[in-house]
Amino acid sequence: MTMILPHIHLRNPYRIPKDLASLVVARDRVCIYCQNDFAPIGPKGNRRASWEHIINDVNLITLENIAVCCTGCNSSKGVKNLRAWLLSPYCTMNSINAHKLAPVALAALQFQIRSDSETHNHGNLVVQESIIFGSSQNTQAETPENAA
Ligand SMILES: [Zn+2]
Repeated sequence: MTMILPHIHLRNPYRIPKDLASLVVARDRVCIYCQNDFAPIGPKGNRRASWEHIINDVNLITLENIAVCCTGCNSSKGVKNLRAWLLSPYCTMNSINAHKLAPVALAALQFQIRSDSETHNHGNLVVQESIIFGSSQNTQAETPENAA
């Protein structure tokens, strides 16, 4: 199944219902992570549009979890969870953090942080959040050196 839409050209290998796919494509006009425009139909490279499961569960086919991101972000994120990926060198290099994420991705991140805070060491979480969200809300160091 191939969908041809004004700004992107996507195959639909995940059996995403057509109505849902149309809503997602209409919402995500740019990459939900890096906010770059998608490359037009044709060119290869890291700026093509691709389907993304924000939470890596192919069975979670909802408006909250299905999104469109660029192939560069998609292949960098891979099977990492969103919070772990935001701490990666790719995100540091491309200034991808909570302030840059599209609302749908930010909501997933906040959900993940809430779930994780029930099971993880809290001190470590605070440090990670200061990297992901920036240090405006607290006095944590600003440098993301230990993000790798
Ligand atoms: Zn991207």
